[in-house]
Amino acid sequence: MKKIKLSGSRRNFLKNFSAGLATMALAPGASMVQSCTSKAQEDLPEDRQVGIALCGLGWYSTDQLGPALLETKYCRLAGVITGTPESDDRFLKKYQFPEENIFSYEEFDRLADNEDIDVVYLALPPALHPEFAKKAFQAGKHVIVEKPMAPTVEEAKEMLEARDEAGKMMSVGYRVHFDPYHQEVKRLGQEEVYGSVEKAENTFAMYWDRGGWRTDRDLGGGSVYDLGTYVIQAAIYSTGEVPVAVRAEAQEKQRPDKFEGVDESMKFTLEFPSGAEAECETNFWKDEDILKVETAEGYFEIEPAFDYYGQRGETHEGVIHFGQVNQQARQMDDFAQRIITGDQNTPVPGEMGLRDVRIIEAVYRSAETGERVEIDYTDDEKIVS
Ligand code: NAD
Repeated sequence: MKKIKLSGSRRNFLKNFSAGLATMALAPGASMVQSCTSKAQEDLPEDRQVGIALCGLGWYSTDQLGPALLETKYCRLAGVITGTPESDDRFLKKYQFPEENIFSYEEFDRLADNEDIDVVYLALPPALHPEFAKKAFQAGKHVIVEKPMAPTVEEAKEMLEARDEAGKMMSVGYRVHFDPYHQEVKRLGQEEVYGSVEKAENTFAMYWDRGGWRTDRDLGGGSVYDLGTYVIQAAIYSTGEVPVAVRAEAQEKQRPDKFEGVDESMKFTLEFPSGAEAECETNFWKDEDILKVETAEGYFEIEPAFDYYGQRGETHEGVIHFGQVNQQARQMDDFAQRIITGDQNTPVPGEMGLRDVRIIEAVYRSAETGERVEIDYTDDEKIVS
């Protein structure tokens, strides 16, 4: 792992950042934003950095992950894997890594010989994640994979097998786990601060009419594949339970030509062992972004909930306010610290990605059959945080 000395200003960034996270109005028992990192990790020497290569230079890599890397403490953009290596010197100019660290997809295996790159971050159409995750592990790299981890449970399992064979680490790009509003939702729900959770209503809707992989089933498109992990996860970490069954209802398409072969929207209800239910919606014909939880004694909600910025939290007692964080920078820093210390306990492991693919498959099966579908997990998939 290459070591780079950080400048003072960058070194101080995260300290100031964390200091700015104090909450202004808190629910009972809340103190400061919960940290995702252990004490040992906070004490890491500040000159350790992990080299990350972005694979797939579409919107998410270009507009979110690249800029977020500049705000990390333990990561640096060390290379890219792209379909257009000849024209992707825009990354080279902005992030200043060696020119030989631009790879085409065909040259992927060459990563095995590259010591600058420790982690491959896969931000490809979801159907390509399994193939490139396996290649990255074979090249001896750790992997962060974007959501959804894979189109099928079988493929997700194969990715985990490849990880274990390589002895490397894997996390999923579940950025909201590193956001203070969502950490507060976990606390309020799982600690039953307002009594037991009875019902959740989670909607993530993003108006989409630009085609691409989101409208192509072969590439892993569809509203549940793209947006489902957010609403499913929110239901799980607010209840502290994994759903035992789902009832889904595909809705009539508003733009059938554009969304031929994929779901333009979906409504589904997740059933939890406690009796709580989560009514979820994913949708490409409108914009809506809500996480709402009703409890025995009141409610809590975030709106907008799943976007990168601008969250607003509220309970029946009043407004919850946290400072703004860069979710992706925190997510990548957390993984980097765990790589540096050898701590395997990422809060967003591949098993969580597999769990969510299993639930997504059940949603689609229920929508197709019109039947309630029960969901069985292996023990290591039963992650409730
Ligand atoms: P995008 O379409 O903008 O980018 C996809 C990239 O994959 C492009 O660079 C494209 O050239 C490349 N690619 C390689 N092979 C391809 C092929 N055969 N067909 C099509 N494209 C191919 O998509 P995006 O919005 O950047 O999404 C990429 C991944 O990031 C997805 O898994 C998505 O779910 C995830 N994502 C996550 C978030 C988040 O907030 N965590 C937000 C947006 C996207």
